Amino acid sequence: MELSKFGNKITSRSGIGDLMDDLGAALSSGGDWAMLGGGNPAHIPAMEKVFRMKMQAMLDRRGEFESCVGDYDSPEGNLLFRRELADLLSYQYGWKITHKNIALTNGSQAAFFTLFNLFAGEFSGGDTRKIMLPIVPEYIGYSDVGLLCAEEMFSANRPRIEFIGDDMFKYRIDFDNLKLDDNIGAICVSRPTNPTGNVLSDQELEKLSQVAIDLEVPLIIDNAYGFPFPGVIFTDAKPFYNSNTILCMSLSKFGLPGLRTGIVVASEEIISWVGKSSSILTLAPGSMAASLTTEMVTSGEIIKLSQQIVKPYYEEKVNVALEIIRAKLKAFPVRIHKPEGAFFLWLWFENLPITSKDLYQKLKSSGVLIIPGEDFYPGMTSDWQHRFECIRINYAQPKEVVETGITKLAELLAQLY
Ligand code: PLP
Repeated sequence: MELSKFGNKITSRSGIGDLMDDLGAALSSGGDWAMLGGGNPAHIPAMEKVFRMKMQAMLDRRGEFESCVGDYDSPEGNLLFRRELADLLSYQYGWKITHKNIALTNGSQAAFFTLFNLFAGEFSGGDTRKIMLPIVPEYIGYSDVGLLCAEEMFSANRPRIEFIGDDMFKYRIDFDNLKLDDNIGAICVSRPTNPTGNVLSDQELEKLSQVAIDLEVPLIIDNAYGFPFPGVIFTDAKPFYNSNTILCMSLSKFGLPGLRTGIVVASEEIISWVGKSSSILTLAPGSMAASLTTEMVTSGEIIKLSQQIVKPYYEEKVNVALEIIRAKLKAFPVRIHKPEGAFFLWLWFENLPITSKDLYQKLKSSGVLIIPGEDFYPGMTSDWQHRFECIRINYAQPKEVVETGITKLAELLAQLY
């Protein structure tokens, strides 16, 4: 059967597709995998208990379950949830927003599809514009959401590398060398960043916001791991929003990835475009997460849970993982990106004798799943050896799993170096 150009693009191999396939295959094979790949948030027992209680309370309230499963919400999503969230964000951060500045989507991934294609691609005068990624490595899931191929969709910028102590480093936006001459339709950055755990400083973000304002394009901030929920940030970073920002949030990393709920906070005009797009693509976003979490938003409990349960859970895990890595990999030239947020560690093996993808294959055959780094550079065309020397591991696994995975990694590195 012949497929259209779009058909070929959407069905071809993608980094995100491979990642989801690997996760799914490993989980369903029932084998003894050390799962250090994937972006699944951890099952945090204390959070699962809360979700179970909230679900029971919802079932017990007369008519709520029936309207949640029996009615379509509006294309922008559940009105009560959006009102309560606007109140919470206004109260907490002083942002001047109402429910008209908020739209829900079926996961934030779906929001990126809409947003990227709103601002990049072919325009009426025949010119084409791109989404500028001011710093790569960047989230693998962006690579293929455009209707164009990644090279036409994104303009990627290499970071500056700052060395920290003996075994850490940090990426910084290289403002002096940003490619501003590519036609740019929007700027996008994840903060905290998946895969590196980088959190752009407040100053970097202010400066980037000014670049966007000067270019007269929106700044899209992917806040999937940020404040106020799930709040997995270990530095002093402040949340950022202004009238030129499109802030994308998610309930996934708070512990509800199965409910597929993304949240876009932006100008009323942009929110109306997201709503129009949702009505075409999905009619309306799902209602379950809104029903389950509205009360938590109204009371502010969603912030308390993020700060008291979710963040400390990951913070403890990252420290354990760092200890294991430092103990087991000290013989090798490895540097760790300073883990400032999200739940990944980004390891850089200088002068790795094989590519990170080959390393991934070899580890996979010994029962360890990590994610090779080289797919995390959407739109990057230039050669950069560094790109092939990094891997991402998810540390939100039980200690024994991290230990097994890193031990096998050490064995492989001993053969390679
Ligand atoms: N943005 C980042 C940086 C992510 O890591 C993810 C998922 O892993 C997403 C967005 C998409 O998440 P979801 O569609 O579950 O909201």
